[in-house]
Amino acid sequence: MTFDKEFLGEIVVFLVSDNEKLISKYQNLQKSNFQFIVCQELPNLEKSSKLPQINSESLIFAKKIQVEIDGKMEEKLVYLTHRDKPELEYNWTEVATSFADNYFNFESENGFWRWGQVVPEDGSYLCRDCGFIGDFEKGEIFPICDVCLDGDPGGPIPLSEGYWELV
Ligand SMILES: [Zn+2]
Repeated sequence: MTFDKEFLGEIVVFLVSDNEKLISKYQNLQKSNFQFIVCQELPNLEKSSKLPQINSESLIFAKKIQVEIDGKMEEKLVYLTHRDKPELEYNWTEVATSFADNYFNFESENGFWRWGQVVPEDGSYLCRDCGFIGDFEKGEIFPICDVCLDGDPGGPIPLSEGYWELV
């Protein structure tokens, strides 16, 4: 596959919240394959196409990349995906670990792609568990299946399992 290191960047997960319980659960965490930042304001994010509406309480998965602007290298945060109103009951650092593992893994699981992986080519992808078909573009992030919730931390399968298949 042809995604280079600059394209992939580094994963930064923002927990944007003023919920005391959420904040105290996730403050001051150090993780190896991503940064986890607790903040109260939405960070400044970019996206190649339109940035979706993001709730003021949300968990945002972004990548930090270096870009050259007027001969100088600058850091940019690029939106990947997000979840509105992250529930207190789930362990979001485990979710973020799975996300980063999947994001940096370019191999499908026997043809099935996982939540958080980078879509390798434009096409229609079938959810193996419910038959829903979504159209995704190369470079997007494979989403949670809205119908059966595959890829959701509260869904039927572990986040390490693939479920989107190119049709
Ligand atoms: Zn599904």
